[in-house]
Amino acid sequence: MEKLRNFINGEYIAPKTGEYIDNFEPATGKVYSLIPNSGKDDVNLAVKAAEGAFPIWSKMSNDDRCKILTRLAEGIEKRIELFTKAESRDNGKPLSLAANVDIPRAVSNFKFFATAILHYASESHNMEGVGVNYTLRKPLGIVGCISPWNLPLYLFSWKIAPALAAGNCVIAKPSEVTPYTAYLLGEVIKESGMPPGVLNILHGEGQTVGDAIVKHPKVKAISFTGGTQTGKYIAQTAAPMFKKLSLELGGKNPNIIFADCDWKEMMSTTLRSSFANQGQICLCGSRIFIERSIYDKFKKEFVERVEKTVVSYPEDPKAKLGAVVSKAHMEKILSYVELAKEEGGVILTGGRREILEEPYRDGYYVRPTVIENLPFNCRTNQEEIFGPVVTLTPFDTEEEVLQMANSTEYGLSATLWTSNLKRAHRMANELEAGIIWINAWLVRDLRTPFGGVKASGVGREGGWEALRFFTEPKNVFIKY
Ligand code: NAD
Repeated sequence: MEKLRNFINGEYIAPKTGEYIDNFEPATGKVYSLIPNSGKDDVNLAVKAAEGAFPIWSKMSNDDRCKILTRLAEGIEKRIELFTKAESRDNGKPLSLAANVDIPRAVSNFKFFATAILHYASESHNMEGVGVNYTLRKPLGIVGCISPWNLPLYLFSWKIAPALAAGNCVIAKPSEVTPYTAYLLGEVIKESGMPPGVLNILHGEGQTVGDAIVKHPKVKAISFTGGTQTGKYIAQTAAPMFKKLSLELGGKNPNIIFADCDWKEMMSTTLRSSFANQGQICLCGSRIFIERSIYDKFKKEFVERVEKTVVSYPEDPKAKLGAVVSKAHMEKILSYVELAKEEGGVILTGGRREILEEPYRDGYYVRPTVIENLPFNCRTNQEEIFGPVVTLTPFDTEEEVLQMANSTEYGLSATLWTSNLKRAHRMANELEAGIIWINAWLVRDLRTPFGGVKASGVGREGGWEALRFFTEPKNVFIKY
């Protein structure tokens, strides 16, 4: 059985703990590799390597860092098939999704921040007749980047690319549920010419190695994407140590559909925004609110099309949905279906596991599920399920739907379908979310601020926001 290794100081090495955990293939439910369960000693080793590399990396010109990060992007591109297959196998997502979304986006993340740093400038503030202030933007030092399993390399690179571009050294931890593409990155890092110790990749569980990264006194900032409960724990640990924190957390996003929308576009996009990546995207719109006059029409067509959706093994070209990421996650999703029934919900389609033929019989497949007849404030409609489950709720007025949409503790994204321009602006202004899509979903411009409000997070990623997070401003005043 293949044993993954950590990547520290430019080398693949076994964990000091000597411990490993099973890595499951969601498509078959079988263990297919072993992941280091690293500990404090591994973190210490990585921090030491990063300390040694920091003076070299932080003093390197932006031009040279740009070249290395570009080579990193090209190294992934060169191995696109290897990365695509590995991501799909590790996560259970359709191969087509890994090929069209995950891996190309990881490449873009490195390319984007490689060049962004060339254009990044700091401010100066002139005081007429008195003097001038200029602001230096210094890298923080060693930073920790911790990412989740749903978009493994995509979100991993979304953090480490700006951290590295800004001149920091990084201790990165991918999810222990999907470690494989981050593991493969080691080879690419070596080839890119990045000095050893600049980017260190540690594997293992959150409570052990993740916690040790967060608690290490020399790690100056934590950029975290994952669940709200984990974010809360990390904030409690890191805040008294005065670490900079960027938290990208859970969501329960509304998808609001008015009768005056472009029907065809709304319907095909809503199918994607409900079930893409088996509903395991923090931006999926799991609460669908439909104007009452079109509720029955929407329900009929949507349910018919969901019923035709092919759930299959990731390599099947017909697969629209693959496997969900783990047995525990599948059980969590199905337990929410049971909860929905207890809360009075009517299952219109799905609501069950899908059993495929061998060798996929034990894989974690869940039918896309549509539920109606639930109050907006019940648990099913308030808690994050993070699977292929959506609820349908009718509404009569703008005020009513705004109240329902804003009723959860989360505030990550919202989608709005209408051709009424004034209403679109009015609602965009009132919706409590960090990201609003009008007549669209998941259109991403890497320059824009990305993140949520309320329990969906603190801070923003993307563009200058990310480069600001990974640098410390220092103001210098000179008297005239
Ligand atoms: P998770 O919180 O369980 O784990 C995320 C990462 O944190 C993993 O690498 C994990 O090992 C690590 N971790 C766990 N406990 C830790 C601890 N005590 N200290 C340090 N690290 C720890 O989340 P998950 O189940 O992997 O991912 C799903 C969640 O991520 C969902 O809630 C989803 O909404 C959220 N998410 C948010 C965004 C966003 O941009 N807002 C994007 C993707 C996913």
